[in-house]
Order: sequence, then C-alpha cells, then structure tokens
Amino acid sequence: MRAAALYLALAHHPVLNKRLEVITSSVTNLDIHDIARAARTFEVDGFLLLHPLPAQRELVMRILSYWQRGGGAAYNPDRSEAFERLHLLASLEEARAWVREASGADPLVVVTDARPYPNSIGYAEMRRRLQEPGSSYLLVFGTGWGLAPEVMAAADLVLEPIAAVGTYNHLSVRSAVAIILDRLLSDPASR
Ligand code: SAM
Repeated sequence: MRAAALYLALAHHPVLNKRLEVITSSVTNLDIHDIARAARTFEVDGFLLLHPLPAQRELVMRILSYWQRGGGAAYNPDRSEAFERLHLLASLEEARAWVREASGADPLVVVTDARPYPNSIGYAEMRRRLQEPGSSYLLVFGTGWGLAPEVMAAADLVLEPIAAVGTYNHLSVRSAVAIILDRLLSDPASR
C-alpha cells in the first residue's frame, strides 16, 4: 500500500520536437482523458496538466467543464469522476510548489523517458520509496519527443525506461503512464 504522496505531471514545455528542438507542444484531448482515467484508477493523489499558455489551459477548462458539469457528466459519470483530481498549472516550478503545499513535503521530481539515462532508478526501488510515509513525489511525463534535456538534468531522479522487446520503442505517453503506474502501484499478486 502506498504511503508516500504521489502526483503525476504531463508537461507541454519544455519538450522536444522531432528535430530535437525545444518547443511548447499543444494539448492532446486523448491525453487529458486517458491519463486522468489511469491516474484515478491507480489512486494517484493528483494529475497536474502543465501548459504555459493561458489559451491552452482555457481549452482544457472547457473540456473539463463539459465532462464535469455539462452533458458529459450526465452521459458518463465515470469520466466526470476521473477528472476530479486533474489540476491545470503553468509550469513544473508551479507544480512543485503546488505539490509541496498539497502534500506538506517538498516533492522529489522523477522524470521519465524512452531513452536510458545513467544513474536512473528501477521500478523496484521506486516502489520501495513509495512505501515511505512522509515522502512526496512528482512523476513527470513529457509530450512531443520527450522532456527537454534541462528538465531531465534538473530532476532528482530518472526512472528507468519501459524497455522494448526489440529496437522499436515509441509508446504514446498515455500508454507509458498506464504501464508505469501499474508497475509502481498495483498489487504484485494481481499481475
Ligand atoms: N520518443 C519519446 C521519448 O523518448 O520519450 C516518446 C514520446 S512520448 C509521446 C512522450 C513521453 O512518454 C515521454 O516524455 C515519457 O514521459 C513517456 N514515454 C514514452 N516512452 C517511454 C518509455 N519507453 N519509458 C518511459 N517513458 C516513456
């Protein structure tokens, strides 16, 4: 049973494009729904959707409003519940301060990527850390072609990639979130 605080962040800046330039990506509607559902299913304390542009945050607010108070709430209450723990913030710095306030402890930032990094930690070690009462973690996922190098370098921990079976390793962020949350939080007996 998890004892530490665990929040999930989806970052849209600074991330990479396919030319490995640092950009700001646009919000993908599927990310909002699928990651909120995975976060709720695995009882993550909060899903922080990060975007620096107010117009993009307003777009997400309109989507949330439809599913939480509009026609979507009546049509699909389960989806409405999935959005209860979703919060919109502008940056990773803002997310860190928000989690410090919400969890009462300064969170360790754990970043993810499909590429291997030196000194990364494995899933068993991360599961063990999540059993520590009083600890707080912010698990960060990127969009585009992944989190920018400065985010990876500044993080407290880098989580090992989900290894591919062969040479092709291009999971969607939605798939990566679900796999990683299952590895970190589900009961081993249930797997
Ligand atoms: N090629 C990108 C990369 O190297 O991460 C994948 C782009 S994917 C749309 C963006 C995010 O999904 C990554 O920033 C990471 O958070 C997550 N992700 C994708 N594949 C992953 C993997 N094999 N292991 C861990 N995280 C992964």
